[in-house]
Amino acid sequence: MKFADLHLHSRYSDGTFSPEEVVAHAAQHGLSAIALTDHDTVEGCAATARECEAAGIGFISGTELTAEYDDTEVHLLGYFLDTRNERFLAEITKFQTVRQQRIHEMVARLNELGVPLEVATVFELANCRSPGRPHVARALVKAGLIKTLDEAFDRYLKKGRPAWVPKARMSGRDSIELIHQAGGLAVMAHPGLNRTDDIIPGLIQAGLDGIECFHTKHSTAMSERYLEIADQYHLLVTGGSDCHGYSKAKPLIGTVKLPYEHVDKMTAAVIARRQAAPAASGALS
Ligand code: AMP
Ligand code: ZN
Ligand code: FE
Ligand code: FE
Repeated sequence: MKFADLHLHSRYSDGTFSPEEVVAHAAQHGLSAIALTDHDTVEGCAATARECEAAGIGFISGTELTAEYDDTEVHLLGYFLDTRNERFLAEITKFQTVRQQRIHEMVARLNELGVPLEVATVFELANCRSPGRPHVARALVKAGLIKTLDEAFDRYLKKGRPAWVPKARMSGRDSIELIHQAGGLAVMAHPGLNRTDDIIPGLIQAGLDGIECFHTKHSTAMSERYLEIADQYHLLVTGGSDCHGYSKAKPLIGTVKLPYEHVDKMTAAVIARRQAAPAASGALS
């Protein structure tokens, strides 16, 4: 059997692995295809594609966008994106800028709370254009200001905690359209995480192509439920570990294995889309 892991983060957002390390782990786990889905960036895709090619592993360029639909946060994965699409790059650059500003705000709040974290410590550790809360958590641990990453989230960074700063969110409809105009497929990430099933029909109306049925935090029952929903609405089925390297307790790559037939279906869908509208052109390797 061939398997894929289509939800991976690298050090270009809040993961810790370099593209080389992502692909080395993928090879170690015997994966036949992977997708890189860093938050609000596709910067790591070119290097990961090169490494995958050398290792004989299929690669899908991707990203994970934070969107909202009916006041509910929803994460949308974009797959088979043209990583040079100008409008797409311009939009995600805006989100990267907001993420950087948000780091300043989170550190200012921590300072007000008497936690002497320096903003430079976070940016040095993050060393990327798309920083996030895990970098603040790691900087707190590294500076000896808190013991564990979980404690950092529980005390300060989780929604509703004193150093939490909301993230800029695009509308679900606009995110899907942005992904489509860059030649990509739009997939709802980890629907079981925030129990957002009631927004699925609206997202489908907005053009949603698929749903992430298999995810580290989905129970078997949840995966089965989303497979049924995918079947009911004729959505593509995707899955991935959401590995962040050592940014979380341990690397998750290889713990979720998507049967390869679903990668074939995604590839067929994107080819059909492009035959209908030949302008967009992300790599199909
Ligand atoms: P952000 O994009 O800055 O809002 O950060 C979101 C990231 O933080 C996601 O990758 C989450 O998985 C991660 N995250 C959320 N809660 C925790 C937690 N308790 N421990 C570690 N990482 C977390
Ligand atoms: Zn993340
Ligand atoms: Fe997510
Ligand atoms: Fe993710």
